[in-house]
Amino acid sequence: MVYLLKDESLVGWWENFFMEYCKAEIENVALEYPQQRSLLMDYWKIDKVDQEMAETLLMNPFKVFFNAEEALNTIDVAIDKEMKLHFRVHNLPETQRILIRKLRAEHLGRFIAVEGLVKKVTEVRPKLKKAVFICQKCGAHITVEQDEDILKEPLECYEEQGGCGRSSTFKLSPSLSEFIDSQKVEIQESPEGLRGGAQPERISVYIDDDIVGNIAPGDRVIVNGVLVSQQRRRGSYRLTSFDKIM
Ligand SMILES: [Zn+2]
Repeated sequence: MVYLLKDESLVGWWENFFMEYCKAEIENVALEYPQQRSLLMDYWKIDKVDQEMAETLLMNPFKVFFNAEEALNTIDVAIDKEMKLHFRVHNLPETQRILIRKLRAEHLGRFIAVEGLVKKVTEVRPKLKKAVFICQKCGAHITVEQDEDILKEPLECYEEQGGCGRSSTFKLSPSLSEFIDSQKVEIQESPEGLRGGAQPERISVYIDDDIVGNIAPGDRVIVNGVLVSQQRRRGSYRLTSFDKIM
């Protein structure tokens, strides 16, 4: 996954952008680090510098965010701290504002904004980010990045990670693994403008790290995020329809 996303020319563009236009903001976040762990950016600031890059962010957000964060974390700040910052963008153009009931397949993988009322929040839970498995044949530690709800296990004992290269059974080691705080939030569209009798629709949103724990049921929110699909499950069957989540 990481290898597919990495793009040196994108990293270069964002390094330049952060150095030239955001040095002061990054220094400010650095001063408050680790209480503050995000650089928050207005979409139109990117648009003003390079309209094409701003549009690429809307169309291909996973790739752009990945490389922008790579760049962000190489920026030298006056404060001598080892930092791992998130890059978060808000105030998206009107074209990206989608009503929950209007979300369609065409919006999958796009950077969009939905507005609504918070109906439910789960407790904050630690979620696996980098899972470390121990090969039961050779004892090697194999790391697998986790980006979904369902645990991804190694397909084999990867030689490039010092493993034996064989297919094997693996045991997850929680103490060697890396976790991130995570929370699931259910957003309901506002009932205004609904046709008589129509039920308002909902969407589940996963938030993580520094933005967890800040919202409560009843809050009105705008969520800026990427629409992804989650395969529906019934017992042990995988269904071909997908739930919409962000
Ligand atoms: Zn092995």
